[in-house]
Amino acid sequence: PGVAQRVLVTGGAGFIGSAVVRRLVRQGRQVLTYDKLTYAGNLASLGEVHNLPGHSFLQADVCDGQAFRAALHEFRPDLVMHLAAESHVDRSIDGPGDFIRTNIVGTYTLLDESLGYWRSLDGAAQKRFRFHHISTDEVYGTLGDEGLFREDTPYQPNSPYSASKASSDHLVRAWFHTYGLPVVMSNCSNNYGPYHFPEKLIPLTILNALDGAPLPIYGKGENVRDWLYVDDHAAALDLIATRGRLGESYNVGGNNERRNIDVVRTICTIMDRIVPDARIGSREKLITFVTDRPGHDARYAIDATKLKTELGWVPDETFESGIEKTVRWYLDNTAWWEPLKARYDRQRIGLSK
Ligand code: NAD
Repeated sequence: PGVAQRVLVTGGAGFIGSAVVRRLVRQGRQVLTYDKLTYAGNLASLGEVHNLPGHSFLQADVCDGQAFRAALHEFRPDLVMHLAAESHVDRSIDGPGDFIRTNIVGTYTLLDESLGYWRSLDGAAQKRFRFHHISTDEVYGTLGDEGLFREDTPYQPNSPYSASKASSDHLVRAWFHTYGLPVVMSNCSNNYGPYHFPEKLIPLTILNALDGAPLPIYGKGENVRDWLYVDDHAAALDLIATRGRLGESYNVGGNNERRNIDVVRTICTIMDRIVPDARIGSREKLITFVTDRPGHDARYAIDATKLKTELGWVPDETFESGIEKTVRWYLDNTAWWEPLKARYDRQRIGLSK
């Protein structure tokens, strides 16, 4: 269909969404960020791109069909990239309601409104339009020591988060097969990199290690995740949205399987080297094992062959290069994370809502 010039990005103020928006605006495309700005959304993550003429922002909820309809008809996108979601597994265990609402009802609302908009377009615009749904490898459940998730692996979600994302994937698929809405889908492994909210494992480890605070790890730290640098994911999403086959889904992963304990140790080693602190000494001593999360999946690993062979995607970063960049980014960007961390720390110890 050619490169979409007008892109509506839901969740564009979040971790991955902001990487997508920064990339597209810098390429000269017109982008509307559609985001409710929950605790996870932050316009500061858009950096200077927020104020460029190619970018506009609308604070709205994906469950608000009227707001989304108005945004479609006013902005007239040829591509919708849907990243808005409640995304943190621990929060889904404590309070699944928001996950059902945003991830399932919200996706339904966007599909329904996008269908009406798509049908209203003239021939050429109708041919160009695409709806790209962004999802996670957690929908596939858990792996043993062997094997990889492929696009045809059966769905077996284990947490309220992954179950809500699995539901949304099924809705998107159904809107393609039932109504012909031109959709593409992708399921990605764990992302890391700049602008990642301080409650997630990698930023939490970096920031606690900087302070000399305990580095919490679930269980024995043996759970394995397949890590991908966020800008490599954004590049993959750009390719899939532009050149992916309609109705198809693509798995995205960096072939970087690591046990959580090894991720934390790697960060400790990098920080001991670049910000040595005599009062703290070796940061590995700060590692503290905490009671495992219920339903904690043992291993995720992605087979990204389809994306690589069909669309020619190649990630730029190895885990080693990406994690070093990430540590340096957090050290250089205290103004971005300090207010978030203060708010998050207060919430964790129950001082504020
Ligand atoms: P995030 O939590 O950092 O960002 C989510 C964004 O969505 C925030 O800006 C938030 O304000 C917005 N949002 C939440 N509820 C909303 C609502 N009701 N209406 C409008 N906006 C709302 O999430 P992320 O890590 O950037 O993940 C983005 C997408 O990618 C999600 O769909 C997630 O399932 C998927 N994903 C994430 C990862 C990962 O490792 N982070 C991996 C694979 C897939």
